[in-house]
Amino acid sequence: MSRLSLSATLRQGLIAGALGLALLGPAHADEPLKVVTSFSILDDMVSTIGGDHVAVTSLVGPNGDAHTFSPKPSDAQSLAGADLVVVNGLQFEGWINRLIEASGYQGDVVVASRGIKPLAFDGHHDDEVADDADHDHDHGDADHGDADHDHGDADHDHGDADHEHAEAGHHHHGNLDPHAWQDLRNGEQYARNIRDGLIEVDPSHADDYRQNAARYIEKMKVLDTETRERLAKIPEADRLIITSHDAFGYFAHAYGLKLLAPVGLNTLAEPSASDMAQLIQQIEQNHARALFLENMSNPALVQQLHQETGIAIGGTLYADALTPDGEGSTYLGMFRHNVDTLVDALEGGH
Ligand SMILES: [Zn+2]
Repeated sequence: MSRLSLSATLRQGLIAGALGLALLGPAHADEPLKVVTSFSILDDMVSTIGGDHVAVTSLVGPNGDAHTFSPKPSDAQSLAGADLVVVNGLQFEGWINRLIEASGYQGDVVVASRGIKPLAFDGHHDDEVADDADHDHDHGDADHGDADHDHGDADHDHGDADHEHAEAGHHHHGNLDPHAWQDLRNGEQYARNIRDGLIEVDPSHADDYRQNAARYIEKMKVLDTETRERLAKIPEADRLIITSHDAFGYFAHAYGLKLLAPVGLNTLAEPSASDMAQLIQQIEQNHARALFLENMSNPALVQQLHQETGIAIGGTLYADALTPDGEGSTYLGMFRHNVDTLVDALEGGH
């Protein structure tokens, strides 16, 4: 730019000089990194790992529903000014690619779920997507946390699915369940991906990002162990729960619950009368213990099920969003709340 301005007219030179100052001025030196996340859970994760070095904006806020979100012009503006964008991936944010494109944002996009083993969804949650996850080895230790996984998926790291491409619509894998954050071991992988994304755009604070992520992952491990222990005490026959939409497939898979929901992976769906009748039959046949509301879903379906089956509503689970304040305003707090709510409702039935 300086060479151009020297050869240009004085006026142009002054403008270029002013621009140069604006770009390189002192404000840049320790200004926090502007990170835009797609939804509130990622907001908390990035804030926790980034600490003072980041200023995070979330497109879908607390108690917001990313499934039904429709972006506003101001969302494109947030993206345009971002230094880093963090999304869930697994087609959770159906609107994100168009929004990024419209905003003109050209920087890195961290797909937080990259490297997790996705669950398939075909109306029930028994199926894992075998051999279908691309475990990217670009980032030195990105995978080492998997070493202590003991739930039997030894063949984690084969296959050819690339989540970023899947997200961009180049590949189709049928219905993948996007709600991967409801398994704390996936939460650890989210933290590693976010850490690596922050280091990539802001290497000068790499040590802080590593330390914050390590502390965070340690807390997730402690809560994961505690969750397993608490849910293991609930008799197997009592472990069936009903939620508004199918947001707890990973939770159920990781911690040994069974679940049913009137609508599938997406809150946009409306169950038909015969779907509801079938679900009521299933609930009654399987002696479901409790129904649960979700903080970001319409309660009407669960209330209808409550009226028709007489099964108690066990509380509100935090599904696809944090709460604006209180216990549910962090990822770890959200998780603890959900475990407390489930255990209370399932034990309390006796
Ligand atoms: Zn959902």
